[in-house]
Amino acid sequence: MSAEAGNRDCVFCRIIRGEIPSNIIYRDAEVVAFPDINPVTPVHILIVPVKHIPSLAELSDADSPLVGRMVRVANELARRQGIAPKGYRLTINSGADAGQIVYHLHMHLMGGRHLEWKH
Ligand code: 5GP
Ligand code: ZN
Repeated sequence: MSAEAGNRDCVFCRIIRGEIPSNIIYRDAEVVAFPDINPVTPVHILIVPVKHIPSLAELSDADSPLVGRMVRVANELARRQGIAPKGYRLTINSGADAGQIVYHLHMHLMGGRHLEWKH
């Protein structure tokens, strides 16, 4: 299976392929972004690599530019959503203790209200 074809049963690969409807708000060859289906903040967007990487733990050196791209896309979307001036949070949950549910790497862009920290 090629990286582009993704993982057959992965929910985010299926969104990227258009098999599950989603409001894709950003797409390039490497990165896709869409709103979280269960938002916990007024702005809650998922930034996802097109390549199926299960979690941070599976990143290779070759993926480092991709993670940089994800951050840059998140910054641009924060600007477009109007939350950049007041601030926002980028979160990547990795593994069970962090509460990772979907095992396709993704970054949460959260903002639009004051966020508590450290719990
Ligand atoms: P995790 O805990 O793995 O970092 O977060 C996974 C996120 O994906 C959750 O916030 C959840 O609401 C979101 N999510 C799960 N399934 C779907 C889906 O089918 N569509 C969208 N847009 N978001 C989803
Ligand atoms: Zn996937």
